[in-house]
Amino acid sequence: MREALTNPAQGYYTRRGGVGESGDFVTSPEMSQVFGELIGVWYVSEWMAAGKPGAFQLVELGPGRGSLTHDILRVFKQLASLLSKCDISIHLVEVSPRLSEIQAQMLTGGQVQSSPRDDPVYMKGISKTGIPISWYRDIQDVPQGYSFYLAHEFFDALPIHKFQRTDRGWREVLVDEDPEVPDQLRFVLAPSATPATQNFIQPEETREHVEVCPEAGVLVQRLAHRLEKDGGAALIADYGHDGTKTDTFRGFRNHKLHDVLKAPGTADLTADVDFSYLRKMTQGRTATLGPIKQREFLKNMGIDLRLQVLLQNSQDTATQKQLRNSYDMLMNPKKMGDCFNFFALLPHHRLTYPDQKDNTQPRAPLVPVAGFGELSLK
Ligand code: SAH
Repeated sequence: MREALTNPAQGYYTRRGGVGESGDFVTSPEMSQVFGELIGVWYVSEWMAAGKPGAFQLVELGPGRGSLTHDILRVFKQLASLLSKCDISIHLVEVSPRLSEIQAQMLTGGQVQSSPRDDPVYMKGISKTGIPISWYRDIQDVPQGYSFYLAHEFFDALPIHKFQRTDRGWREVLVDEDPEVPDQLRFVLAPSATPATQNFIQPEETREHVEVCPEAGVLVQRLAHRLEKDGGAALIADYGHDGTKTDTFRGFRNHKLHDVLKAPGTADLTADVDFSYLRKMTQGRTATLGPIKQREFLKNMGIDLRLQVLLQNSQDTATQKQLRNSYDMLMNPKKMGDCFNFFALLPHHRLTYPDQKDNTQPRAPLVPVAGFGELSLK
């Protein structure tokens, strides 16, 4: 899965990276500007709840065409009077040179400087709204500091291991060459336990088939470490489940399902995110919220009100129709409303008071986290 998606020469994202209508799959930020705007509002609301720190980094993992950050930056611009004293920088983690060029075009109009190959910051620019942007291949190269992290349809692209319960215990499902058919791959069951079987299956696992993404676990641990140390928040949005699904590994090409073993590197490969695994991997370093369904999160963030404003401001019926259609795509439970989920990591003190010996002093109520409950407009 890793080779098929991110191999520097032949990987799907490196070569093709078909996000968008003309590509292989369309994502929520590509569908509607409202999606990114509401996420932008979420970060501003968390920044305010943290007491308006003097600086923050917005770190996006796998920004695709850059639309999400573009829409978030528009919100930051609209709220410029609120954010004027805050030093904001954007940090994009992207392995695909092709997509990073598209992002640079979208966010800076192409005004970027590339760095020598071994520099961890491989490109730099200034957004059209005047905010510095840096590009990295790995989150470990992003500077430490108070940060808001964003991963939309990123975790589902990280490689999984597949396992199957048998009479002789757990066995890993591996990919092999079919000896009968030239250039044909096939799934096989490992004849004995592999190191992955011994290391990646939770002792309390009850499913018969299971997919585990250790890279997602490592990444969440990194995020949790950073948030515990420096503060901020992480929002992870993806299709997924809470530890219940079994076989979700699939491919997409030209908006249609595609056999994952056929013509590797030419199709997007994906597996649902197991949020229960991510929660476990934070090892209690941060609090977690969710997963909650996309339609609930967006409703709580005020999508209905935003749609009304955009409809009132639009002049022609074609735009109004497009606004209603994209709202339906994002919210309809049969489309993206139910299968996409929002999940957040937050420092513990954001949700609970630290133990305090002196209970006589009245304490200000904790501000609810937007999106995961109804947005309070007070
Ligand atoms: N967030 C975007 C795009 C999702 S597609 C959207 O919602 O529209 C997945 C993105 O993650 C692409 O930009 C892809 O190039 C990037 N990507 C995939 N694997 C990666 C990895 N291991 N490290 C960094 N970026 C990766």
